Amino acid sequence: MPVRLADKAVCIGPARSNMSYRNQQAVLGAALSFGADAIHPGYGFLAENAEFAAACEKEGIIFIGPSSKVIHQMGDKIEAKKIAKKAGVPTVPGSDGAITEFAEALKVAKDVGFPLLIKAAAGGGGRGMRVVRQMESLESDLSEIMSEAETAFGDSSVYIERYLTNIRHIEIQVMCDGETFLHMGERDCTTQRRNQKLIEEGPSPVLDDRLRQELAAAAVNLCREVKYTNAGTIEFVFDLDERKFYFIEMNTRIQVEHPVSEMITGLDLIKMQLEVASGIPLAIRQDDIRISGHAIECRINAEDPEQNFMPCPGTVKRFHMPGGLGIRMDTHIEAGYVIPPFYDSMVGKLICWGQTREEARARMIAALDELDLGAITTTAPFHKEILQNEQFVSGVFNTSFVATLLGK
Ligand code: ADP
Ligand code: ADP
Ligand code: MG
Repeated sequence: MPVRLADKAVCIGPARSNMSYRNQQAVLGAALSFGADAIHPGYGFLAENAEFAAACEKEGIIFIGPSSKVIHQMGDKIEAKKIAKKAGVPTVPGSDGAITEFAEALKVAKDVGFPLLIKAAAGGGGRGMRVVRQMESLESDLSEIMSEAETAFGDSSVYIERYLTNIRHIEIQVMCDGETFLHMGERDCTTQRRNQKLIEEGPSPVLDDRLRQELAAAAVNLCREVKYTNAGTIEFVFDLDERKFYFIEMNTRIQVEHPVSEMITGLDLIKMQLEVASGIPLAIRQDDIRISGHAIECRINAEDPEQNFMPCPGTVKRFHMPGGLGIRMDTHIEAGYVIPPFYDSMVGKLICWGQTREEARARMIAALDELDLGAITTTAPFHKEILQNEQFVSGVFNTSFVATLLGK
């Protein structure tokens, strides 16, 4: 559908992403041949690739996002944590920098205690992380995760953090032009499976106004520190026992869950990205941004929750999308579409707004019922189960909520 709707389209290579969507020269070549002014990188593939952003800069094509320099700085999670510390933003206790040998890991482990988390500096998408529960396995876990990181990300650098067990994932949406640094409040992405987000919502049901302001101020300070431009997200974990937040990473791109913020602020973040990239200064100020109501997003994946979330590609013979007040569906699907097996299994995002969390939740349940992809198995029924779970209803749960639900 996007290809059909586009004014111009060009084939950049075969289906396999390393030969097309990840092929920087193919993407850049297509843009140059059409005389394109700019490239919007979306939220996957090359969206956080500093090398690609630099190649665009070199060719005089605007990369819609921050500078390659900032992507490079923040893309390395170790470097990002150092910058956060410099900006006075609290970070998860752990190693000061990269861990390269067992002796260093041992020293850090004595300080932070067990369980601890070994994370790849270049990790993403919930990959490149390992929980270590006891001293005995530290040495083998360290060498395994280092070689995994090398294979998956081409970078074996790892670092260590205390593994926090009673946490929420809370993140701040920012939009900056290098001089004005705005935040659009928070999104709560605690509903995760294997460190990957399933459901995102905003505002967070667990923050009070003081913490909310502190979190936003921390995010804005970090942006100021690197003179950030364009859209970004500062991710934090919020410790429910201590009621303290810690920076974990920054995503230097628009995120999958950005519609949650659009729904509660009424701002079009993609339009703002295009304006900032065009050199138009931000026209609004922090005081102009008001959070109204509550929004929830469900990531709809063509996966079978009964079969350990195995991807279920296939032909969408029938397609009906929910609609109505406060309901938005972002998708590339239409009837007749063949879901290919080559990419991420996300087929759409369903976002519901309500004046209250309860109204947004009820609307989402109705919308999930209305969504119809024919015979394609999706995660929609699983989302409904989560939304109806009493813990979700109460808003009181942590990042192990879904694992517990699946384990029962
Ligand atoms: P990614 O780059 O894959 O998004 P993140 O660093 O953002 O990785 O972490 C993804 C998720 O992993 C977080 O949302 C959180 O649920 C969990 N996580 C990350 N760091 C910690 C930690 N120190 N303790 C406990 N859980 C963590
Ligand atoms: P967000 O933080 O925006 O929610 P994710 O970390 O889930 O984003 O990643 C955005 C998109 O890119 C998702 O569709 C995800 O599956 C995909 N993605 C992220 N990292 C990788 C990766 N290393 N390999 C393949 N796909 C990835
Ligand atoms: Mg993350």
